[in-house]
Parts: sequence; C-alpha cells; structure tokens
Amino acid sequence: MRAGGFAAFLLVGLLMLLMVPGGARAQGADWGGFEIPSPAPSHAVGTYSNGCLMGGAPLPPEGAGYQVVRLSRDRYYGHPALIDYLVDLGDRAEAAGLGPILVADLSAPRGGPLSGHASHEIGLDADVWLRLGVPALSRAEREGLHSTLLVDRAAFTVNGAWTRDHAALIRLAADDPRVARIFVHAAIKIAMCEMDWPDRSFLRVVRPWFGHDSHMHIRLVCPEGTPHCLPQTPVPAGDGCNAELYSWIPDPSRPPAPATRPSGPPPPLPQLCQDMLRSARSE
Ligand SMILES: [Zn+2]
Repeated sequence: MRAGGFAAFLLVGLLMLLMVPGGARAQGADWGGFEIPSPAPSHAVGTYSNGCLMGGAPLPPEGAGYQVVRLSRDRYYGHPALIDYLVDLGDRAEAAGLGPILVADLSAPRGGPLSGHASHEIGLDADVWLRLGVPALSRAEREGLHSTLLVDRAAFTVNGAWTRDHAALIRLAADDPRVARIFVHAAIKIAMCEMDWPDRSFLRVVRPWFGHDSHMHIRLVCPEGTPHCLPQTPVPAGDGCNAELYSWIPDPSRPPAPATRPSGPPPPLPQLCQDMLRSARSE
C-alpha cells in the first residue's frame, strides 16, 4: 500500500470512529454498538425476540445471593422490573441457602438482537446458570467460569449432577407473579414433574425448550406501564406435566417432525427501535 493510500486508510478509519454515536462501539458489540442505555423513561419495546429496550438499567455486578458472570460481555442490562426481580431472587436464594446464584446474559444496554440468543431483546429475559455451590468470586474469576451440564443428552434424563437444590432454585424463580415463562430442557421439566411438591402450581410456567440443559432462561411478563411491550400467548393452564411434555423424548419409531422455519424475511424492528438507532447515528 502506498504511503498516501495508507494515510487515506487511516483517515477513513478515524472518520468511521467519529461517526459512531456517543458511547458506542463500531464492531463486535451487540445491537447498535451502544455502551450505555438510553435515558429514562423505561420501555420494553416489541416482542421478546424482536424489539429493543429504552431506559435500561444495569444489574449491579454482585449483590446478596447473586453474582453476574462474564461481565465483559456487557449484557447485564434490563428493564428495571427485571433488575428488581433478579435482586429479589438473589435475596430469596440466599435465604434458602442456594446462593450465590450465577446470573449470565440479560440484554445489551439498549436491547435489540443479541448474538447467541433468539430473544433477550427487550430487557425482560435473563439466563441464570444451574450451577450451585460456587463461592463469591472476584469479577476476573467469574470471566473464566463455566456452567454445569445437568442432562444426559443421549438418555434424555437429568444426569448425576442434578440435585434437589437445582429443582428448588427453579421453583424459587418460577414462584413469582412477575414470571411469564422459565425455559429448561425437557428432561429437567420431566424430573421436576416427577418430584413431590406441596404446591405444583409453579410448574405451569416452567416450559420445556431446546438447549437449556445447564441454565434456565427466565422471562418476565410485560411490566405495568409498558404499552409498547407485546406479550406472548399465556401458558396453558395446568402444570404442563402431560403428553406434550413427554413427546419431547426422542422416539426412534417416530419420524422426526419436519423442521419448521419461518419463511420470508425477518420482521422489521419496531419503529421506536429504528428511531433510537437513527437518532443515535445522527448524534
Ligand atoms: Zn436465554
């Protein structure tokens, strides 16, 4: 490359950096490259899998009964309702002798599409690892931590790492009117269905889903005063310990259901989210 060409290359690079809106990064970052939330008021905008977060709040890196893992990912932002819920869950886990729990991805500072996830877009989803017994660690130590697999994928059952305490933590998380759904591997839901519980009503929101064999995914209902939040269909009545649940177990005699893929282009982001991106670019 000629010296002039290199200078031009540097200049273009510098201009690209300057074009990045305040507090945002150019590459490798989650949606919009935003480093900080947009100002209040707080709104979850759109659906869990197609939207964004306005007026998000950070979950403090650690608190009573919880610690956030992999802080460098910058995915510890949520609607204030989610932050309150997680702080409460930490308190309740501590009181139950299950803490500190390990909180993983919430949302990017302004939500939006998040690599590695089909949802987590509006600040109302949080992953909590199903790994217990980890002491309070430094933030640096939490970067290299891994979750624990609780499912024997071949046998489609929980494995030897599964304990009653894992079930107790899932129950604790589910037993809260703010929760819409908690996704776990079907083998985990089956294990919980087959346990005795004084009150089984919490099982209703514990839903079988792909993956989720080392963490649970907690999804809150649209909080009050969030008219732009589009709720999901409510979960059916009952504890969900039924034929539909057991149909998740692979059956070699049954041909696998054809994969259903959404046809056509993905839906556009809600207008409010597009506006947020556009106004940030013109800052
Ligand atoms: Zn998740």
